[in-house]
Amino acid sequence: MARNVTDKTQYRFADLVDLSAFASMLESFAKATGISNGLVDVNGELLSQAGWENACTRYHRAHPETAQRCRESNLAIMHDLRDGHVANSLCHNGLMDYATPVVVEGQQLATLFLGQVLHTAPDLEFFRNQAEKFGFDEIEYMKSIESVPIIDKSHAEALMTVMVGMAQTLAASGLARLRQATLEHEISVNTEKRIQLEDILNFSPIAIGWSDDDGRIEYINLQFTQLFGYELSDLPNLETWYRLAYPDENYRESVIRPWLRDVARSHQSGLEADIVCKDGSVRRVIIRASRVAQRRLVNFTDITEHWKSEQREQAHDAMLGMVARGAKLNDILIAIVQEIEREDKTALCSIMLLDFEGKCLHTGAAPSLPESYNNALEGVEIGPNVGCCGTAAYLGQRVIAEDIQTNELWKPYAHLAQKAGLRACWSEPIISSRDKVLGTFAIYHTEPKIPKPWDIERIGYAANLSAIAIENRYALEELERRAYTDYLTGLANRRYFFEKAENELARALRYSKKLSILMLDIDHFKQVNDNYGHEAGDVVLKKLAEICLASLRAIDIIGRIGGEEFAILLPETSIETAMETAERLRIALSSTAVQLDNGLSLHFTASFGVVTLEEKNDTVDMLLNRADQALYKAKGDGRNRVCKYQQ
Ligand code: GH3
Ligand code: MG
Ligand code: MG
Repeated sequence: MARNVTDKTQYRFADLVDLSAFASMLESFAKATGISNGLVDVNGELLSQAGWENACTRYHRAHPETAQRCRESNLAIMHDLRDGHVANSLCHNGLMDYATPVVVEGQQLATLFLGQVLHTAPDLEFFRNQAEKFGFDEIEYMKSIESVPIIDKSHAEALMTVMVGMAQTLAASGLARLRQATLEHEISVNTEKRIQLEDILNFSPIAIGWSDDDGRIEYINLQFTQLFGYELSDLPNLETWYRLAYPDENYRESVIRPWLRDVARSHQSGLEADIVCKDGSVRRVIIRASRVAQRRLVNFTDITEHWKSEQREQAHDAMLGMVARGAKLNDILIAIVQEIEREDKTALCSIMLLDFEGKCLHTGAAPSLPESYNNALEGVEIGPNVGCCGTAAYLGQRVIAEDIQTNELWKPYAHLAQKAGLRACWSEPIISSRDKVLGTFAIYHTEPKIPKPWDIERIGYAANLSAIAIENRYALEELERRAYTDYLTGLANRRYFFEKAENELARALRYSKKLSILMLDIDHFKQVNDNYGHEAGDVVLKKLAEICLASLRAIDIIGRIGGEEFAILLPETSIETAMETAERLRIALSSTAVQLDNGLSLHFTASFGVVTLEEKNDTVDMLLNRADQALYKAKGDGRNRVCKYQQ
């Protein structure tokens, strides 16, 4: 592994230059010039030497006194060493030494020595004396002195400069290479670290991003892009992000920014917020922000599903609550529409209800659609080519029109949609638990739009919720109906007849209006049952109710008050008119042939008792009692007749 090289680092000549190559170069230099040389690093370690088999090594360093002179000369020369300067010293042994530091970027790496040389021809007398003084073999010593190269000072300095320059150039390029290698290594280590970090962040289930102090977004992780759809290139800075994620200026300025400002000051708990994704959908998240070094780190925990199911649970409970409290179906459906429009802020919803014959659609709730549009489609007959709703109700299948203007099913209605500013429509049939189409739930958009999977899920949910509401509401009507009506004939039951009759009597007394009551009983009905069976008896009862309903007024109150006994209250009716009505009804009944399932037909008759309101203190009970007395008389008089009550 390469050493870490920074400006502060001490490095050695051997780290930077191929020493053996450099030494062999110095060797060649020594051979070519006869000049000995040596390279010593800053720690005093000898790195290379060449050509030193001469007077110095053989004689001067061998004798203590001359060796001392060598050392003194070395000290003098070292003292004089400085960058770019060739130091030289004439040693007391009579020879010249040169030394120059090898300096790279201000740091001394080594010292190059040249020596020993002579500037001029040797003073033979001096050296002979020296041989004699220190006991050197004169002949051999003088030979070695004569072999000392004679080189003038400027030449020596030039050679020295060349050699040091070469050493420095080699060391500098070695340093550059070392730096490059270190840098490359660091880059690869850092890249590796960064990749590891990105891997970790990308694996995070939480969306993460960070920005610098200038608001520039530097990083978003994979989950961020997966969650919100935005790439880093979509979000050059925080301001862009705020505007995209929180397009509602009021929300941005009154909720998001104050929170972000507080976060900058203190450690705050997360903020639950809605973020608009790149595709326009909205995610519910908890945002947490913190400062790390010079970065603002933000993470987003997606709670959309949890939040949505909570919201939906609440909406579901609220809807059932409305049903239980007996709210109007229209109000319940409006609440459902509003719930869906709250989930998808760009959606405009409508609920259409299919009539009992399963033929036509009527507006159930469409509070966000223009009234003119709702009116134009009111009562539309369903079919295979009737926009989205008409077709969905007809097929019992979801129908999608991404663009109403180009959709075949919409041809007859496209102009209506255009006028209403509606461009896309997705309609889901509302289907009951018994697989019956109850209506449709439609989501409109003002732009052409293909539903995303969550849109499909949402419209399915909306249709289900509507189905529950409609079914429950219908069931509760049904319950009310059963409480008040007779199951067989559909007429008011005894209790309901009395309730309605009391009201009518009170009104008649208050306004001094007339009021009459008929009571009728089928003649020999037991025989009908005995001869034709109980079911045939039921058919007769139903037929009687049908004839009464057909021949009486809407304001008349008809009740089945016993097995085959009926009471009819006629508001604002005199005794004479009541008698005529009874007679008309008697004839209608007696002239009716009842068709039985087995192909037979039968006739029946009834007897009538008639009474009219006379006294202020009269009650329904009293009136019915008198009518019953008249009826008893009619029976006694031979049946199939009308009798008036007489005191
Ligand atoms: P009358 O002319 O004296 O009224 O003779 P009636 O046979 O009609 O009188 P009665 O009161 O003896 O018999 C009434 C019969 O009506 C008895 C009962 O079985 C029958 N009935 C009562 N309710 C129903 C019903 O819901 N369906 C059928 N099929 N028969 C009923
Ligand atoms: Mg009877
Ligand atoms: Mg009877």
